Amino acid sequence: MFPAAFDYIAPGALDEVLSLLNQHGDDAKVLAGGQSLIPLLKLRFAAPVIVIDIGKVDGLEGIRRENGHVRIGARTRHRDVESATDLRGTLDVLLDAAPLISDPLIRNMGTVGGSICHADPAGDWGAVMLAVGAEFVVRSASGERVLPAAGFFEGPFTTGLHADEVMTEIRIPVGAGRSGGTYLKLERKVGDFASVATAVHIVLGDDGRIAAAGIGSTGADAPTLTSSVLVAPPVIYQTILYRPVKQRRRPAHRAGIRNPCILILRTAGVNTVEMRGCEPKQNVGTLRHQLKRPARYRAR
Ligand SMILES: Cc1cc2nc3c(=O)[nH]c(=O)nc-3n(C[C@H](O)[C@H](O)[C@H](O)COP(=O)(O)OP(=O)(O)OC[C@H]3O[C@@H](n4cnc5c(N)ncnc54)[C@H](O)[C@@H]3O)c2cc1C
Repeated sequence: MFPAAFDYIAPGALDEVLSLLNQHGDDAKVLAGGQSLIPLLKLRFAAPVIVIDIGKVDGLEGIRRENGHVRIGARTRHRDVESATDLRGTLDVLLDAAPLISDPLIRNMGTVGGSICHADPAGDWGAVMLAVGAEFVVRSASGERVLPAAGFFEGPFTTGLHADEVMTEIRIPVGAGRSGGTYLKLERKVGDFASVATAVHIVLGDDGRIAAAGIGSTGADAPTLTSSVLVAPPVIYQTILYRPVKQRRRPAHRAGIRNPCILILRTAGVNTVEMRGCEPKQNVGTLRHQLKRPARYRAR
């Protein structure tokens, strides 16, 4: 199907974009990579009067570290995150998620900001941004707002972005402490949108304990399952320590944890899991037998 007729403009400056959005409001649509908007136009699910292409606006691309944050320009492409290997060891979850987005064609065109603003519940960046506690910088003709990821996604394809606003940057806090995480995605076949996916990001304190943690998931709203559960001093009434299987040791090594053990804390009905370093010769097997195991481990 052909899209309904619309005017197209590609301004060279952000101020011009903001003034056009101010003038046209709901009748205007911002175009970034076009990987979601163009299909919507062709299906006539969207029929804007004017499409404002931000592809020529300077300063909306790139990844840099500044003032305790990793700052990602809203127009930064998925493939640029995929190749930002210096984020390894700090924001592993981003590097694990980026290559799982569709195929190289989509990753070469689609942008991080476009994906976040599109707010597809099966999209990958939303879950990741919730897990890392990102903030979104948005601009309009009347000024700038900084919106936390938690609360930004109001529902499927619905966000807290106003019609006259454009997202300019994603800010992710990074402390001095060790951090790690990962992104696991279940898809029907390679390159599909997620059936379900989970992003996890953990920051360790100086004592090796978890200082902050975040979890985000696609297709399900789990942002509340974050730091408060994992960071609060646990009332332990049951613990189990065991060695992670070989392939599960990699994230621990990336986070600088040597001789990793998985500690399961059962706290008032909630199981939480902590990866920590053990003494090299600690007999984890013995510990395991001394402690009462939860039923689902007893069978093994
Ligand atoms: C075949 C296919 C497979 C895909 N698979 C996946 C997948 O597995 N995982 C995944 O996460 N995504 C997937 N996508 C979506 C892809 O990642 C898109 O690139 C992304 O969702 C939108 O980014 P974009 O830059 O193309 O935005 P556009 O399509 O240009 O815009 C999308 C929406 O966001 C708005 N917008 C864009 N940028 C801004 C901005 N800076 N400020 C304000 N509003 C803005 C637009 O107005 C529009 O409403 C897939 C897409 C296709 C076509």
